[in-house]
Amino acid sequence: MDRRIPEVVGVRRTGWAALDRDPQLDLIEFICPHCGAESQKNARRERAEYHFTDGFMQDLQGEGVQCHHCRQSLRVVPVVMLHDQEEIKRFEAMRAEEHVPRQ
Ligand SMILES: [Zn+2]
Repeated sequence: MDRRIPEVVGVRRTGWAALDRDPQLDLIEFICPHCGAESQKNARRERAEYHFTDGFMQDLQGEGVQCHHCRQSLRVVPVVMLHDQEEIKRFEAMRAEEHVPRQ
């Protein structure tokens, strides 16, 4: 039986990309690969643990999480930090074929 935990791309908005949000909130947004629900979790890693990869600041280790809707496990990896609208557009264009949370 395949018990592999599915992985999804997570987006952590900072700076100008998070202006519409409470600055106290530091969230990773993702789409559950099991049920398709848009979900989010508190970001756990320090920004220093993100590294510049493929043109974006990414945490390639990711974080394990359980979907709030279907209660199934998944891994959010990589977590990509997006700082402004230009970066969000660039990222969405690059990931157009995948399920990435949109604003
Ligand atoms: Zn789910």
